Amino acid sequence: MPQNIHSIVKNLVLIGGGHSHAIVLRMFGSRMLPGVNLTLINPTLDTPYSGMLPGHIAGFYSRDQCHIDLRALAKFAQAQLYIDQAVALDLENNKVLCANQPAINFDVLSIDIGSTPAKISVSGAAEFAISAKPVSQLLQHWDQIKENVAANPQLPISIAVVGGGAGGVELALAMQANLVQLVAENENLEMHLFQRSGELMPNYHPSVRRLMQQVVISKGIQLHLGEAVCQITPMISRETREKYTIKCESGLTVECNKVFWVTQASAPDWLKAAGLGTDEQGFILVDDNLRSLTHANVFAAGDIATMINYPLPKAGVFAVRQGQPLFENLQRLLLGKTLKPYRPQQQYLSLIGTGDKKAIATRGAFTLPPHKLLWCWKDYIDRRFMQRFHKFSDCRDVS
Ligand SMILES: Cc1cc2nc3c(=O)[nH]c(=O)nc-3n(C[C@H](O)[C@H](O)[C@H](O)COP(=O)(O)OP(=O)(O)OC[C@H]3O[C@@H](n4cnc5c(N)ncnc54)[C@H](O)[C@@H]3O)c2cc1C
Repeated sequence: MPQNIHSIVKNLVLIGGGHSHAIVLRMFGSRMLPGVNLTLINPTLDTPYSGMLPGHIAGFYSRDQCHIDLRALAKFAQAQLYIDQAVALDLENNKVLCANQPAINFDVLSIDIGSTPAKISVSGAAEFAISAKPVSQLLQHWDQIKENVAANPQLPISIAVVGGGAGGVELALAMQANLVQLVAENENLEMHLFQRSGELMPNYHPSVRRLMQQVVISKGIQLHLGEAVCQITPMISRETREKYTIKCESGLTVECNKVFWVTQASAPDWLKAAGLGTDEQGFILVDDNLRSLTHANVFAAGDIATMINYPLPKAGVFAVRQGQPLFENLQRLLLGKTLKPYRPQQQYLSLIGTGDKKAIATRGAFTLPPHKLLWCWKDYIDRRFMQRFHKFSDCRDVS
């Protein structure tokens, strides 16, 4: 018999205000469940929307346009918001341990904390490279660089991006697009992109890889394919800007003023340490219901989850799609109903910006080269998505 949750208060705790949880909160706001205490834990008051992040770095969108206001969203969902970071889980006693707050009790837990680029094994990377995540720190560094270049447009600047997946390529193109307008002469700007394998964006169809390589080269970005960065060391420099030497396994060395790190996604240690079933990289293993394989009251979505039956790339688009099924299954569990499996699409459309208000479209083996109309299409989809988080009062559904 399903329990009557109206008489029993249940604590649903959401760790991380990522894309899936933003949708979950919005849907809870529209379809409130009596008897449920909703809590969100996130280190910042807002969370970036990945689809518009490269466009923000390129200068096409303001910071607000590509961030979801979690305080307003939590208010709409009648959720308690803790500005904090989960650092451990006590799964025997159903508690989330945070960096600053006392432990938070849960009956049902959902985790959507994203991922961070892995850099542990590379000497100097943790100290001297700027990680693409957390995005708040990436943007702080980026704003400083822009200010510095705008104030000294005659000084040469050299920037390296390490990681040639979609995130690294989009970041390099977006930075190049913005900085080229700030420097006094194009020759003052040097952009390097390092990729361990022989091709960019190995998770994409070969036609996309080829097109992106052409775009990157045509923008004047120096592409280092088949180059694995193994060391970053600071240089003693008489110049006003700091300088680093980037060393690759091949022996190649490149000098740069800033190094951005956008390599393979990694997960924090505390999930595995808590006893949650994880894959080899530490991502939470979930079934088709987005529920942990080892803990029936724990769910996960977005980058931090690995669906055992559907290995998906770590991309915001999947975190967005998992939002609604996650919401439905959290509600179902709280109502004592049977969970509903989620089957991700096998083939999906990707619109990838090229930093110049053009985009490439790809679905399976079908690819369209960079075009302004494709950017307009992407822009429309992204703005429509964000619109749903700017107007909470008139929303009913996000599907
Ligand atoms: C430079 C760059 C560009 C990208 N561009 C694209 C793109 O164009 N399209 C695309 O689909 N993907 C893109 N990606 C990938 C995309 O950012 C991720 O796949 C996506 O953000 C994952 O969403 P998520 O919901 O899993 O987590 P996130 O969006 O990362 O959100 C996680 C949230 O959890 C919070 N959090 C983290 N740790 C904790 C903790 N311990 N306790 C509490 N809260 C925590 C974070 O602060 C954050 O608010 C890009 C990535 C990078 C680095």
